[in-house]
Amino acid sequence: MNAEIIAVGSELLLGQIANTNAQFLSQQLAELGINVYFHTVVGDNVSRLEQAVQTAQTRANLIIFTGGLGPTKDDLTKETIARMLQRELVIDEAALRSIEDYFSRTKRIMTENNKKQALVLKGAEVLKNDFGMAPGMALTIGDVTYMLLPGPPKEMKPMFINYGRPFLLNKLERRERIESKVLRFFGIGESQLETEIEDLIDQQSNPTIAPLAGDGEVTLRLTAKHESLVEAKKLLDETEALIVRRVGKYLYGYNDDTLFSKVIEQLKKHGKTIAAAESLTGGRFTAELTAIAGASQVVKGGVVCYANDIKERVLSVPASVLKTEGAVSEQCAKLLAEHVRALQGSDIGISFTGVAGPDSIEGKPVGTVYIGLAIEGRDTAVYPLTLSGDRETIRTRTVKYGCFTILKALAAAM
Ligand code: ATP
Ligand code: MG
Repeated sequence: MNAEIIAVGSELLLGQIANTNAQFLSQQLAELGINVYFHTVVGDNVSRLEQAVQTAQTRANLIIFTGGLGPTKDDLTKETIARMLQRELVIDEAALRSIEDYFSRTKRIMTENNKKQALVLKGAEVLKNDFGMAPGMALTIGDVTYMLLPGPPKEMKPMFINYGRPFLLNKLERRERIESKVLRFFGIGESQLETEIEDLIDQQSNPTIAPLAGDGEVTLRLTAKHESLVEAKKLLDETEALIVRRVGKYLYGYNDDTLFSKVIEQLKKHGKTIAAAESLTGGRFTAELTAIAGASQVVKGGVVCYANDIKERVLSVPASVLKTEGAVSEQCAKLLAEHVRALQGSDIGISFTGVAGPDSIEGKPVGTVYIGLAIEGRDTAVYPLTLSGDRETIRTRTVKYGCFTILKALAAAM
């Protein structure tokens, strides 16, 4: 199957939004082993949309549209395709009911044009919209399959995953099963990781290994194909074992894991609580952890000790330390971690102090960071880091690094 993705919307051409739908769909189709040869973007204009469809019909046998399924005048994807394919539009009763439900639930008046959203191409398989009103649809005519999806990503993505993808899997003649798994790494750069496993990447065919880097993290997506799901999983496990042998110490999680969710998971597993003293990070670490459900079992709290007098008055860092060594120092990080632990009665105390920029502090350059980690029954550890990047990058990497040190400490049997 060769696919073309047509994104409909003038806002895309005006540069008001980026075509993230095409990116998402391309990734999804790649996983299904479907080649995507063209991305097209066209405005909300009937004749130019027709041109785009005519061109796509000559070079693709799967055409996926996003956008223009809504109730307003400029939403014209469905109507245009119906005319071109000489297909009637008919009311989908299930979709109509869910639209009516929505209006009665929210006590809003339903206008006539909202009914238009329940219209689908006659004979099409209707793709349910669990997060909005306009249903999607998929229809094969001759050797071309047309799939129409809504524009808003929060509606389009679940619709594709839950209904569009199974529709395509059914169509694919190959009965190969596809299994994939994402390995998540921290503390190693993309190029270093790739160098460590270069031969594996060069030899890859099944599973494929796709590296991706961002925000101080690197991921490897392994994708295996096999007629049997069990065999596909086995292929994944074998490749994963080879990778882990080389760079396992940087591996922190899989698939949808984040450093924050892993910290919560591991604290729970070990039955340990944590408190943070945050200067450089201004509460960000605690905010990220408490965003995870179940954090209340393990997060005690934190002190945002941005100003030196708070470090001194609330966290008892002696004025002499602040004066001689400075707030951005190993000694200050150590005391902050120990004292926040004592103050809040937690098993673990972590501290963040450093220079996020743009200006240097105490003669220390931007990117100088100290993370203190105080754990009951162990010597307090201080991790000095030299980070590069802007303020935002330095703060993000610092909290992630903090998570990584906690995971390492917990793994070293508490
Ligand atoms: P609605 O019912 O909300 O009108 P629709 O299916 O008619 O949905 P559009 O009107 O084309 O879709 O787009 C609605 C919104 O969806 C856009 O304003 C934009 O925020 C988002 N969107 C549309 N197309 C894309 C795209 N290709 N990539 C990312 N976001 C998109
Ligand atoms: Mg719209």
